[in-house]
Amino acid sequence: MSKTANEEICAFHFHNKSTGQCALCGLPICDSEEARTVEDKKICALCFNSPNASKFRKYIQIGTMVITMTSVILIFVLVPSENSNQLWAFLILIPVMIGLLIGGNKLLSKIAYKGLGKHQMILPLIRYFEASGNAQFYKIFLKNLKKLSDEEIDAIRKPLFDYLVPALLFNYSKLDDNWQEDLLKYLKIDEVALAKIFVDDFRTLLINIAVHDAKADLSKFIFYLGEITENDDIIHIYIKEIVSDDIKNLKDEKLRKDYDQLLEELFLYDELFYSVCDRLNLKKEKEALTALIKRYDPPPVPKSAIDALKQQKDKVLQMQRQGLVSSKGDFEIADQEEVETEEATEES
Ligand SMILES: [Zn+2]
Ligand SMILES: [Zn+2]
Repeated sequence: MSKTANEEICAFHFHNKSTGQCALCGLPICDSEEARTVEDKKICALCFNSPNASKFRKYIQIGTMVITMTSVILIFVLVPSENSNQLWAFLILIPVMIGLLIGGNKLLSKIAYKGLGKHQMILPLIRYFEASGNAQFYKIFLKNLKKLSDEEIDAIRKPLFDYLVPALLFNYSKLDDNWQEDLLKYLKIDEVALAKIFVDDFRTLLINIAVHDAKADLSKFIFYLGEITENDDIIHIYIKEIVSDDIKNLKDEKLRKDYDQLLEELFLYDELFYSVCDRLNLKKEKEALTALIKRYDPPPVPKSAIDALKQQKDKVLQMQRQGLVSSKGDFEIADQEEVETEEATEES
């Protein structure tokens, strides 16, 4: 779990400063949680409710099984089989069971979130997402966010981003392509404003995670942020960091082990990196990048992966046509590739 500035705010009461952490899950909590103490340890509302919720979950599972089996047996024993009543009784059973399950699950969330307002679930859900990397938690968080009024959202905006940005960066590769869509809608901000928050308020964290805790697709994300905010600075800093002496002087094994993801992205998006270096006039960095990429052995790739690579190059070309990046070399490489593909088709 990351240690960020948000540790000072109570995860459940974002107007309160936290006075400690939950002894079980580590969420920052304040003195309002004092009543919830187990064996002299302060715990949060969620952990306090958790044993009851687990017990109830077991009851639901056993209950559903028992009710289904008894009903099926009763139908076959009691309803005369010579007419169609047996089938009808059986069919009626299905919606009844579904209703019971839905009701049971609603009751289960009531037990798990007992004593918590809907806005109090927001920060814990983000933290669950950050810690587990399970995108399902991000979806539930969005559902809860949707229920908040404009005033409630304004009140939690600051702690929300303090929690959300690290969680998104640490799990960026696990999010689907339209992860921003609902978030922007519910927070009532546009894409550029969100990108500016990443670039301006969380710059150090962004670069740190992208370089030192390399996650898939983060370099692409940084390029996107730089372009959308028209901020070359962020890309400049990023390129400087990935060719810093710390990384350049690493032994091959260490480089491969810790920076495999980074090397792969340098390799995949090399054209993009080079064109940015040219645009920003980063000669030394371009040389260092070339040297780093040379140290990367691409794994023997199946044909599908080569296609994926080509698609990636097509995207770069598209961006160039839109004027987002500019390098004449890329067009030449793409043309050459087309010729090669044509030749290959003719041969076969
Ligand atoms: Zn807890
Ligand atoms: Zn609190």
